[in-house]
Amino acid sequence: MSACLFCQIIKGKIPTKKVYEDGDILAFHDINPIAPVHVLIIPKKHISKLVDAKKEDIKVLGKIQIAAGKIAKKLGVGDGFRLLVANGAWAGQTIFHIHYHLVGGWKKKPKWMEA
Ligand code: 5GP
Ligand code: ZN
Repeated sequence: MSACLFCQIIKGKIPTKKVYEDGDILAFHDINPIAPVHVLIIPKKHISKLVDAKKEDIKVLGKIQIAAGKIAKKLGVGDGFRLLVANGAWAGQTIFHIHYHLVGGWKKKPKWMEA
């Protein structure tokens, strides 16, 4: 989809710091990281948001989770990371091409770990 920023990134029209790519998915560093490690993992197929995913997308969405573990290990955060996906504007989704945020690498306990 030409109007979609992430489709432009997939086509190589917008530069990013890639961390992983195969025929189905692409992972790259977030431009505005909220954690020491913040990678976005996206399917190459344009799917606007999680609720729009169909049965035929199970494979690629599963592949993203397996890749997330491998990327986390590669970036040294295999022991502690979060994989987050926002669905819809009310959840803070700003780019309407499914993306999973892989975040981790905190040096001290993040707030959400406090009781
Ligand atoms: P959302 O808020 O939709 O869950 O996440 C969108 C993410 O895309 C944000 O974390 C934002 O920093 C990131 N982002 C937006 N534009 C670009 C860009 O041009 N390049 C990269 N690498 N990340 C981007
Ligand atoms: Zn797209």
